[in-house]
Amino acid sequence: MQIKTAKFVISNTDPLKCPQSSKPEYAFVGRSNVGKSSLINMLTNQKKLAKTSGRPGKTQLINHFIINEYWYLVDLPGYGYAQVSRTQRRKWQDFVRSYIQHRENLTCVMVLVDVRLEPQQPDTDFIEWLGVNGVPFAIIFTKADKISKNQLAKNVAHYKKELLKTWEELPTTFITSSETKEGSKEVLSYIDQINEQ
Ligand code: GDP
Repeated sequence: MQIKTAKFVISNTDPLKCPQSSKPEYAFVGRSNVGKSSLINMLTNQKKLAKTSGRPGKTQLINHFIINEYWYLVDLPGYGYAQVSRTQRRKWQDFVRSYIQHRENLTCVMVLVDVRLEPQQPDTDFIEWLGVNGVPFAIIFTKADKISKNQLAKNVAHYKKELLKTWEELPTTFITSSETKEGSKEVLSYIDQINEQ
């Protein structure tokens, strides 16, 4: 898929205010600073569609973008940032979880994971919650350029092994880097494939 147009539609904290739609929708989520904004900008080939930020935990809104006038890309607030208060964390849980549980056109949740790190509890908890709720998801490993190919292969294999402790089957995974654009085509083809089904 080539992204010809990517336009901002609306930001809000109220799942009921998301655009009324039957268009397929893909939500991107992960711990703050995982590289979500950079990935969205890479996928859409735009420099500033999603705001990259040196201040993790800043974006606390559900952001809808319409892609090629056909599907929605949703930038969800990052989770698990230590400096965000307990109240704010609970608020995240409430509105993001409510959005994920009730959004009928939500096709797949893309869970972003920093490939340099050991599996992190907030990610594994969230992935498990998606499973319990029967929400389709894929895992996108980010920042692949930051480690050697050898280390990358080791980390991905380790992550998958950890997942297999709780999952019978592995989800679809992607290895990406916003620096080198690695994985961009693969993620977009995956979305394309689902959209065409
Ligand atoms: P977000 O908080 O998840 O939206 O993360 P950002 O996209 O703002 O990225 C957080 C930091 O990681 C920024 O300094 C980015 O430049 C950096 N970053 C994000 N993706 C990559 C990547 O693929 N490679 C490298 N080397 N740095 C990245």
